[in-house]
Amino acid sequence: MKKFLLSACLAGENVRYDGGNTRIECETFRKLVESGLAVLVCPEVDAGLSAPRRPCEIRGEGGGGSVLDGKGEVIDDEGRNLTEQFVKGAYMSLEKALENGCSVALLKHRSPSCGSTLIYDGSFSGKKIEGKGVAGELLARNGIRLFSEETLEEAIKYIEEE
Ligand code: SF4
Repeated sequence: MKKFLLSACLAGENVRYDGGNTRIECETFRKLVESGLAVLVCPEVDAGLSAPRRPCEIRGEGGGGSVLDGKGEVIDDEGRNLTEQFVKGAYMSLEKALENGCSVALLKHRSPSCGSTLIYDGSFSGKKIEGKGVAGELLARNGIRLFSEETLEEAIKYIEEE
C-alpha cells in the first residue's frame, strides 16, 4: 500500500471555490482514506485563499507548466491575478508529498490547481483544453504519479499494490 496525496474536496472537505466539496462516494476509497494512507491537500486554501472564493482559470497556453515557468497567469473571473497564491499552494502540496513519502496523488479533475489532464482555457466560458493545473504540473515534474476521480479504479489498484 502507498501513501497518497489527495485533493481535500474529494474527501468531502468544503474547500471548493463554491464553498462545497466533490466527495467521492465509493466504499473502497472511503476505507483507504480512513486507513490513514491519504494526505489531504487543498493548494488554494493552503495558500491562504478563502472558501468560497471567485472561480479561477489559467490564462495563456501551456496550463500549469506555463504558470510555473513564469509565462502564464492565474486569474479569477473578475480579473484579479492570483498567480502567486497558486504557485505557493503548489509548492506547499509538493512539500507535503515529499515529507510524507507520497509517490502518487489522486487529484480533482479540471481544477486550475489540481487538474491532471484537462483544465479550463482561461476564458471562463466552460471550454476545456488539455493541460494540468499548477499543483498537478509541479507534482508530475517531481515524479509523482497523478490520477483523478475519473481514473479512480486505476488509482485504487495502484495505491493498493505493494
Ligand atoms: Fe479541490 Fe484542489 Fe480545488 Fe482545493 S484546489 S478545492 S483540493 S480541486
